[in-house]
Amino acid sequence: MRGKLTVGNWKMNGGLTANSALLVALLAGWKAPVGRELGVCVPFPYLGQARDALAGSAIAWGAQDVSAHARGAFTGDVSAGMLAEFGCQYVLVGHSERRQLHGETDGEVAAKAAAAVNGGLQPIVCLGETLAERETGQTQVVVGRQFDAVAAVLGKQTALVVLAYEPVWAIGTGRTASPAEAQAVHAFLRQRLTAAGAGNVQVLYGGSVKAANAAELFAVPDIDGGLVGGASLDANEFLAIAAA
Ligand code: PEP
Repeated sequence: MRGKLTVGNWKMNGGLTANSALLVALLAGWKAPVGRELGVCVPFPYLGQARDALAGSAIAWGAQDVSAHARGAFTGDVSAGMLAEFGCQYVLVGHSERRQLHGETDGEVAAKAAAAVNGGLQPIVCLGETLAERETGQTQVVVGRQFDAVAAVLGKQTALVVLAYEPVWAIGTGRTASPAEAQAVHAFLRQRLTAAGAGNVQVLYGGSVKAANAAELFAVPDIDGGLVGGASLDANEFLAIAAA
């Protein structure tokens, strides 16, 4: 039985004072019900703050990107080993903002996922189609291609990842996939995962998830929780989503 996981993606938001208030509120409000997990993926400079606040609690933390390399001349990059030293459990890889704004290819995303696994982290591999791809009937082709690139590199270790289906047209737009639209893609991914020997991997949904729509999304069979951007910056909203 897969539990429900809700992860906040703070993106490039926050500051020491605001983070502290948010983390205190999350700690006070999260009762860690059985079968539910909560995590936050914070900007690199705040990993120490997240670790200091959350260590020993039922809330996990992680980063939003990782290098495919272990060390060396990669100015500005951060390795999986460095993230592990800060107690990260999770790291996002292949978020659509990285794919679109930084030109990350399927191959690079797969290499980052492998580096994360080898470094003892659980990559949350983000997949999703653009609006143009959806409207031309290519959703399964795109999402399948993105998944296959990761599975080809990870092999049996595909079982160690979390997937996040995030339709690009739903991220930060206020437009959410309907539960039926999301379920169709999640069921497709579940088939691919099962074929890869990774049928128990959690598949999160992301894209304008809010307290008002989380319950109906999380109720469909193949959605195992959410990857939450904007709404994760509001403790009450984020906690309500995680409890949905
Ligand atoms: C995200 O950044 O992964 C995301 C889903 O953002 P939002 O919830 O703001 O759409």
